[in-house]
Amino acid sequence: MEDETTVYEELGVPRVVNAAGTKTRIGGSLIRPEAVEAMSRAAEAFARLSDLQVRAGELISEVTGAEAGYVGSGAAACMTLAAAAAIAGDDLGTMARLPDTDGVPNEIVMPRTHRNGYDHAFRAAGAEIVDVGNNDNYLGTGSNSTEPWELADAITDDTVAVGYMQKVFSTPPLEDVVDVAHEHDVPVIVDAAAEVPPRENLSAFVEAGADMVVFSGGKAIRGPQTTGILAGKREYVRSAALQHLDMHVAESVWEPPTELFDKDALDGVPRQGIGRPLKVGKEELVGLIAALEAFLEEDQTELDAEWEARLAIVEEGLADIPGVTTRREPGGKLMVAPETYVDVDPEAAAVDAVELVGSLRTETPRIFVGSDDLSDGGFTVNPMCLTDDEAAYVAERIREATT
Ligand SMILES: *Cc1c(COP(=O)(O)O)cnc(C)c1O
Repeated sequence: MEDETTVYEELGVPRVVNAAGTKTRIGGSLIRPEAVEAMSRAAEAFARLSDLQVRAGELISEVTGAEAGYVGSGAAACMTLAAAAAIAGDDLGTMARLPDTDGVPNEIVMPRTHRNGYDHAFRAAGAEIVDVGNNDNYLGTGSNSTEPWELADAITDDTVAVGYMQKVFSTPPLEDVVDVAHEHDVPVIVDAAAEVPPRENLSAFVEAGADMVVFSGGKAIRGPQTTGILAGKREYVRSAALQHLDMHVAESVWEPPTELFDKDALDGVPRQGIGRPLKVGKEELVGLIAALEAFLEEDQTELDAEWEARLAIVEEGLADIPGVTTRREPGGKLMVAPETYVDVDPEAAAVDAVELVGSLRTETPRIFVGSDDLSDGGFTVNPMCLTDDEAAYVAERIREATT
């Protein structure tokens, strides 16, 4: 396997064997062959991006049950577009001023436990995050981290949306948050970037009442890395499109697709909007459509069996190493796939977990494993982005480093 030459080696860039799952910093996932093929064909001819957005939007609407859909350059980009839509609505003046929100309502209320590094994407549009609640869930008293009344209390005339990060452990339940938000006439934006599979989640949050939901196109959907899906109410998708599409147009001959917006309802042609740096090309749009269609066709039971078999290769490869024990963790919790947890006992093995994970990264090819559990003296192997050969290579290098 080490002798195979990838384009990265040709460029003098170390290749990575990805045992960490769909992590953006090491390349996310591999784009599906169907999507690569479609992207390559998209590179041979032209189409209006707005027409491609309409086509992608129809598919997104069909699979999510949302009124409309749109594609941005990642789930984070779609969070920025969602915030911009919540702040500006159809107001061209506000669109032109963003991220400056002087005198314009711009607050996004969030449960404090939902705050995470990606909420910078909301703030990039000019939103200010108002968080409520605390960490009481972890006191072991049965009390909640965020009460619905706290959200209600924080919603004022300056509120434009409620933000919700969807994870299996997220509280309060999305339905309760939707009730509070809608009672106060503000939309709910759900960050569900990594929440598929299960495929039913594509529609679950729209069904629960969310007004805008974002998914990453470059994780398990295996579309281009630089795609994200925005599914939501037509009014928000319309605003997002107006703030994202290239707007250097000749007004006299400008006929944008009516599915996206009615140009006669606008006061004129908008300027390049806050979303313009988040552009997606024709190749990405076509690639995402192909990937989403293939993702829907995929048999998850078969894929799960493949993942389990790949982990078995790793576990067999690590059997009987002093100080190294493995344990299978089921998928469907924090990670969508099952994982192998590898515990390293530094007394019995030649190294500790930190040294081992660090040294795996300097192998040729480099090996990246899941590093969330280093403080407990362990790490994880995720099968989603590995081949069977690579799984054997990962086990072999771990054995070499620990014995
Ligand atoms: C991955 C992720 C994102 C960002 O997705 P991109 O498609 O890489 O922009 C946002 N939020 C959460 C919770 C994520 O896991």
